[in-house]
Amino acid sequence: MTSELVLIKEDGTRIDGRRPDEMRPAHMEAGVLENAEGSAFVQMGKTKIYAAIFGPREAHPRHLAQPHRAIIQCRYHMASFSVTERKSPGMTRREHELSKVIKEALESVVFLEEYPRSVIDVFVEVIQADAGTRTAGLTAASLALADAGIPMADLCAGVAVGKVAGTLVLDLSEDEDKHCEADLPVAMAPSLNSIVLLQLNGRLTKDELKAGLQLAKKGTDLLYDLQKKALQKRFASYGEVPE
Ligand code: ADP
Repeated sequence: MTSELVLIKEDGTRIDGRRPDEMRPAHMEAGVLENAEGSAFVQMGKTKIYAAIFGPREAHPRHLAQPHRAIIQCRYHMASFSVTERKSPGMTRREHELSKVIKEALESVVFLEEYPRSVIDVFVEVIQADAGTRTAGLTAASLALADAGIPMADLCAGVAVGKVAGTLVLDLSEDEDKHCEADLPVAMAPSLNSIVLLQLNGRLTKDELKAGLQLAKKGTDLLYDLQKKALQKRFASYGEVPE
């Protein structure tokens, strides 16, 4: 006898008891690593991610340098122990793809022209994965860039929406991600009200896409508040006059 996984219960709640529009508990901190120029930690449910920034520094090898702007180099990586089955430590095709989408999202908000001929290194290290790592990784990376004092038009805050057993849900967990009909990771530059990352795995109707984006906006607004709070906490003492 096979028991079927019930992703949406009769009372409309999800496998972990959340309402469809409810995020997992989220926690953020800025300035968590000693040796990086800027750093951040983001937790969304069981997903835990560190981001670290090095630079801006002179671009090497020299042929990478752009005369009128900085370049961003981004490495998204999942630790071998971040998933239930040991993951090979090297970079997989998926990790190369996610590095690229995170880099492109960051390039749309950082004032790159402030640092000609330079490189900014962004490291996103997934310590524990329970879905939503590309969006939480980008959320952490932009917080780390702000911690490094790199000028940006806005922060980036991201969350995945999914269609699970016919219902649109906010902030997919891995159980939901594995069995969903569609997975829609979205990241916003919240105060610019623009989308900086949008991918779709699976199929959604036009109306579902609209509703999914509205749901994602609700999530990213919440994450943006947490990002601002993390930065306020990090720099609270800077406004104090020394005795
Ligand atoms: P995202 O993490 O942005 O949701 P995916 O949809 O590709 O990206 O992955 C969903 C989840 O699947 C990951 O967060 C992780 O929990 C799990 N996962 C991804 N890659 C692996 C892997 N190599 N081994 C085990 N689990 C993985």
